[in-house]
Parts: sequence; C-alpha cells; structure tokens
Amino acid sequence: MIRFESVSKVYDNQRRAALNEVDVEIEKGEFVFLVGASGSGKSTFLRLILREQRPTTGRVFVAGRELNRLHSWKIPSMRRQIGTVFQDFRLLPNKTVHENVAFALQVIGKPASVIRRVVPEVLDLVGLDGKGDRMPDELSGGEQQRVAVARAFVNRPKILIADEPTGNLDPATSVGIMKLLDRINRSDTTVLMATHDSTIVDQMRKRVIELDEGIVVRDQSRGVYGY
Ligand code: ADP
Ligand code: ADP
Repeated sequence: MIRFESVSKVYDNQRRAALNEVDVEIEKGEFVFLVGASGSGKSTFLRLILREQRPTTGRVFVAGRELNRLHSWKIPSMRRQIGTVFQDFRLLPNKTVHENVAFALQVIGKPASVIRRVVPEVLDLVGLDGKGDRMPDELSGGEQQRVAVARAFVNRPKILIADEPTGNLDPATSVGIMKLLDRINRSDTTVLMATHDSTIVDQMRKRVIELDEGIVVRDQSRGVYGY
C-alpha cells in the first residue's frame, strides 16, 4: 500500500537529510506506529506520502502509483484515498459536528441524499450519535478528535494517517481514540500513526518503525515504544 525505495529528503538550505535512504514497505491492512525523537523525520515521512513534499532522491509509491510521476491534476484524487487526523483536531469552528463531517463529502461532490445517510452512520461508528448538532467548542477534546476521525474515515479511505492523534488527550481518552483507530484498521484500512505516546504503543503491540536522524533504526512487528 505504501512503499519507500531508497528515499532521501534534504530540505533547501539544510545540510542534514531529514530522511536518509529510507526503505519501507507497508502492506494493505497493516497498523504501523512511526516513532522517534522530535526532528527525526516522522512528519517528513508522512508529508511524502501525502505528496506535500517530494523526495530529493528515491521513490515513494502509494497504492501502486509512484507519486513523483503523478500529474498534478491527479493529486487531489490520490489524496482522497488517504484520511488524515492531527494532534490539534483541525475542525472547522463555525460548523456543527454534522457539517464538519459532511463538508468532507461535499467537496468531493457526493449528493446530499448520500451525505444525509452516511454522516449519521459514521458519527454512530465513532460514538457521537446524537451530537451532530453540537459545535466543536461544546465538545471535549476526545469528542473533537472523534469528529476528526469520523471526517477522515467517512470517505472510506484506503489509508489513515494520524500525526500524534493522542498528543492533546489524557490517557483514558487516548485509549478510546486508539480503540477507534484499531476498529477502523480491522475494516482493512491501513493505519500509519506517528506518536510519542509510549503507553499506547506498548499496549497495542503493532508494527513499530523508529526513525533516528532520518534513518530507519528499527522495524519491529508487534513492537514496543523503546528498548
Ligand atoms: P519530526 O516530525 O520527527 O519532528 P520532521 O520531519 O519534522 O521530524 O523534521 C526532520 C528534519 O527536517 C528536522 O531537522 C527539521 O528541522 C527539518 N525540516 C522539517 N521540515 C522542514 C522544512 N519545511 N524546511 C526545512 N527543514 C525542515
Ligand atoms: P513537529 O515537530 O510538530 O512535527 P513540524 O516538523 O511539522 O513540527 O514543523 C511545523 C512546520 O514547520 C512544518 O510546515 C515544517 O515544514 C516547518 N519546519 C520544520 N522545521 C523547519 C525548518 N528547520 N526550517 C523551515 N521549516 C521548518
């Protein structure tokens, strides 16, 4: 589903590579934690998959397509196969929960009848049934992150990328979000999550890829956060 072939990324005006000859293959349906110190290259890894950045050398494949060879007009449809969740939720503050999720479908041209049916279904899935009319600031952090997960998943993407999704949540709330991501993963969605949350990584026992100064220093199935 995702393949990095000898991928290096050197940002302009930087001497050190943010990623250095990275070779990684992630199969459809895997759940992968991406760990490493701040500055180790996790965000760069995720941005390359979203084609927000391009490799300096090497090749990145997503769902069989080499991203560097993708015409720019095909990038939006490629990105639609990837749902994203961030530490800071990134909800639209002036829209209701229902509207936040519906918006993700409106921008890709889904008919209103489909949106009316699908949005309550996905809100139900994330445990927010009955909260569609709330505004984001009326919800707890954990509930806001559930909205973000619903929005990322409503289009049934092949891949879900989560960048520190529990970074702003207390431990109990984080467990709830992880159960949700685990459930989404079980529906055959590939999940890739960058995190510093050692408790979560140690509890879940999924594949762990560790970056250190842009180099993959560990790739472990059923791994733990650190040694
Ligand atoms: P992480 O997500 O693990 O914190 P990053 O991928 O953000 O790591 O950063 C890896 C390295 O690349 C760091 O040295 C960082 O300063 C650098 N970097 C990240 N983004 C940029 C950018 N847009 N321009 C220049 N350097 C960058
Ligand atoms: P985090 O450490 O939370 O992963 P990011 O690496 O995503 O933070 O950095 C936030 C923003 O700053 C990104 O747009 C990134 O490209 C940019 N950035 C990070 N490091 C540098 C850098 N050394 N020079 C220029 N831009 C940078």
